[in-house]
Amino acid sequence: MKTKAPVSKNERLDVTIADLTYQGMGVAKVDDFPLFIENALPGEEITIQVTKVQSHYGFARAISWQTESADRVKDVDKTYRQTGIAPLQHLAYPAQLAFKQHQIKELFSKAHQDVDVAETLGMANPTQYRNKAQVPVRMIKGQLETGFYRQHSHELIPLTDFYIQDPAIDDAIVKVRDLLRQFEIPAYNEISDKGVIRNIMVRRGYYSHEMMIVLISRQQKLPSQDQLVDQIHKALPEVTSIVLNVNAKKTNVIMGNVTRTLYGKPTIEDTLMGLTFAISARSFYQVNPQQTEKLYQMAIDKAGLTGTETVIDAYCGIGTISLALAKHAKQVYGVDIVPEAIEDAKVNAQKNHLTNVDFFVDKAEDQMIQWQASGIKPDVVVVDPPRKGLAETLIASTAKMGPKKVVYVSCNPATLVRDVARFQELGYEIDGPIQPVDQFPQTPHVESVTVLVKK
Ligand code: SAH
Repeated sequence: MKTKAPVSKNERLDVTIADLTYQGMGVAKVDDFPLFIENALPGEEITIQVTKVQSHYGFARAISWQTESADRVKDVDKTYRQTGIAPLQHLAYPAQLAFKQHQIKELFSKAHQDVDVAETLGMANPTQYRNKAQVPVRMIKGQLETGFYRQHSHELIPLTDFYIQDPAIDDAIVKVRDLLRQFEIPAYNEISDKGVIRNIMVRRGYYSHEMMIVLISRQQKLPSQDQLVDQIHKALPEVTSIVLNVNAKKTNVIMGNVTRTLYGKPTIEDTLMGLTFAISARSFYQVNPQQTEKLYQMAIDKAGLTGTETVIDAYCGIGTISLALAKHAKQVYGVDIVPEAIEDAKVNAQKNHLTNVDFFVDKAEDQMIQWQASGIKPDVVVVDPPRKGLAETLIASTAKMGPKKVVYVSCNPATLVRDVARFQELGYEIDGPIQPVDQFPQTPHVESVTVLVKK
């Protein structure tokens, strides 16, 4: 049944913002009908104009403010909101941290669970933290530009300062852009499916300062490839790796399956928790190294290892958590779906002289079933899944193996709530407060560590 919305498109009205969504939009209710408004904070009284009405909710634009929130940061650059780079930059940092803590609490309470959530661990300087950039490339008025897409579109907004990225990475993007211009290498055009460069990815070791440049191209070979590569590492002395990734498909997926090293090594190295890690172009690596160390330290402390335990690290990536835990455990098993990540993980175990770790390429949900079938009895299972959370089969096979503890590192509280409920049905309960760690300041992303223990 369609109820009639109490507002219509283009209507102007005065509202008070009641809440902030998990995407960071303000919410105002008109006769219980929610309107979502960008750049609006709880408590603010705003004149809005309705921009879109759907059957159960609508969107509006803020026109003018009668009162502003005490937590509002003034004079922000609106490009970072338009591009979605920093959708929360207009909210003062302490309020961002409180918002993230509240998000977790709220989502559990909607699922009728009263949980204890600790204060979010934040950063002293919550900008310029990202160690990786992945930027689209476009021709605009005949000139190659780098920047970021306007939200919900593929319109490129040229940018040189990315605000939340390591400034050395911002600088590298500009230098690579200028060289692509100089050698007249055109950007890829999604509509005509012609042109060459689709994206530029840059990763820089936080401690090592080693830099990797990945050029994502529609073609197997770039025009003037040798000169370009030569000029890039001359312009950027930190560069120890230049990689070509070929993606010839008409797709939104950024990277293709072919990667070739054009200069230096296929990986860069960085350190984390005193361990050395090699990271290749296609492997996942946490983007905020300062906060990652806090997050992992928390996971390690909560695992409570004494040196005698068997540990499983599902979704292990390049083995960061696995190796950090291996120092305190008898045996660690890691699994990840990306073959390059597992190759990196094996190299990383050797680099750090850790021999009590075994890595496997597979879907975590399938590997767990195999481990369970082969009689492995882990004391601790660590999971660090992508946003979609855990497969039901993974939770079932974990519970069958019966570890004393499950340490759940989550980047999405919505799937965390769902998965915790499943663990509870299988005899586990939450132990201690859930600990949010701010991995993505200025954005609404919420990362947290939860410990589940067997009853
Ligand atoms: N713990 C690692 C990686 C976490 S990110 C770290 O902190 O660095 C999530 C990882 O899950 C990625 O490495 C991704 O490749 C992997 N992944 C995604 N889906 C998977 C699946 N179904 N099975 C196993 N690994 C998966």
